Amino acid sequence: MLVVIKKARKNLTERRLRILNREFFRLAEDVRKIKEHSIENLEYLIDTAVKNLEKNGFEVYFAKNVREGQKVVLDFFEDSSTVLKAKSMVSHELDLNSALSEKGIEVWETDLGELVIQMLNERPRHMTMPAIHIKAEEAFKVLGVQDFEGLKAKVRKLLREKLARADGGITGANVISSDGSLFIIENEGNARLVSALPEKVMTVTGVEKIVDSFSSAVKVSEVIWKSAGYYSPSYLNVISGISKSGDIEKRIIKGLHGPSKHAILFLDNGRMKARDSAFKETLYCVRCGACQFSCPSYEALNADWGTVYSGGIGAVWNYITGSESNPFYCLNCGACVETCPLRIDVPEMLRKLKMIKIGKIN
Ligand code: SF4
Repeated sequence: MLVVIKKARKNLTERRLRILNREFFRLAEDVRKIKEHSIENLEYLIDTAVKNLEKNGFEVYFAKNVREGQKVVLDFFEDSSTVLKAKSMVSHELDLNSALSEKGIEVWETDLGELVIQMLNERPRHMTMPAIHIKAEEAFKVLGVQDFEGLKAKVRKLLREKLARADGGITGANVISSDGSLFIIENEGNARLVSALPEKVMTVTGVEKIVDSFSSAVKVSEVIWKSAGYYSPSYLNVISGISKSGDIEKRIIKGLHGPSKHAILFLDNGRMKARDSAFKETLYCVRCGACQFSCPSYEALNADWGTVYSGGIGAVWNYITGSESNPFYCLNCGACVETCPLRIDVPEMLRKLKMIKIGKIN
């Protein structure tokens, strides 16, 4: 298991070295300012985003906590029988796979790593590479194939069949611009299919993902994919409304090719409160996952930093979102701060979290 993580870390480090240049670091400084401004003005940005998203044809919902979030999702998919999901850590925070399955709704992950861990009954161990701890042989075995060619053919066939009859889709979002657009970065193309083919789609995301403008959202997106080791992703999906046509007599038909309903669920779950705490910087995190690979503890132990998110920043995310959290694997070496494009001081937040856990501070 550790060898798999070591390989992934080596691969990412080499790719980042090739990609990250002076321009990237200047862009990352801009993005840090964008995030600081967004979190400072979050109430205003939420109001603006809601108005503009609704104007663009989205339904918008809010959930204060997991219970409310699950209710919104279950109500929305009440009459659905098969829901396909693109990768979303917030959907794990909401434990949507269990919630939907308990209501008799068939749920399928479509991101390859997520699909494999769903079939193995595991949970994600990394923000962008959920199956980082799984060996190829384990993936082959659970899918009943011999090699990567077999895996590709099997997954393609399986998910094409599911997509053809799915009546619901769930995606996450990397960034939301307050002028009314969703940004979803991906390489596989599954988020594109899941957000376009089913009749009803819901995007679930944290409130901290909202930024002030379309151009800011583009900057944040570029920092995410470059920090994750890509010159550019295979797909950058920008969704600014629902499918519609006015081709015949200017009469608007909704949902002609894409979904006729696209809802967005903004989850708070401790984020708004975190703005006034020692953990505020967590809300600047763009979830590129780079810091996890720089952490000697993450690589050596593949440990449990809590119930939803992994790694040092994951332990803080777990804490502010009310999940079990374990900050004690942090060695305080500071490697993550050096790696983080936004220079988020994860060790300092973990130091405070350790103090809270041992009852030294509240
Ligand atoms: S803390 Fe920084 S490096 Fe780690 S996931 Fe968040 S933005 Fe990326």
